[in-house]
Amino acid sequence: MTKHEIKINFEEYESLAGLTPSDQELCLEAIAALKNSHSPYSKFSVGAALRLESGRVIYGSNQENVAYPSGLCAERVALFHWGANYPNDPIDTIAITAHTDDFKLKRPITPCGSCLQVIAEYEKKQDQKIRIILFCDGSPVWVVQGSESFLPFLFFEERLAQS
Ligand SMILES: [Zn+2]
Repeated sequence: MTKHEIKINFEEYESLAGLTPSDQELCLEAIAALKNSHSPYSKFSVGAALRLESGRVIYGSNQENVAYPSGLCAERVALFHWGANYPNDPIDTIAITAHTDDFKLKRPITPCGSCLQVIAEYEKKQDQKIRIILFCDGSPVWVVQGSESFLPFLFFEERLAQS
């Protein structure tokens, strides 16, 4: 028997003020993305902003549906838009935030497993990690270098990805 241990690391900042100006700007874009959230059922808005290497910003927000499984998370709305429109302009960073009037969010919201799997897929596709910035109103800010810290055992099989 062999025991293994996996460590993850991430940076924590007290507020957006601790980030570089360009990261602060991207976080403001994620906040701007909240306004197009379609979340009449959960009343929980999520906004995501991708910054591409060219500097272009792509927005995503959660899109719910009365037929619940038909909705999609903010992160995947933005990521699939990237995949369909700008696949040759690598994703540098994704900033993700959330807001609800129902309660105070005390810590950053982390991407769900499905969104992490999609981030990981695109990291492999572009052969480059995607920085992830997580924050909410009044919460600390977490900066993570790539999906692997969240999902060390993501599903991936090289032989399926060969083209
Ligand atoms: Zn998700």
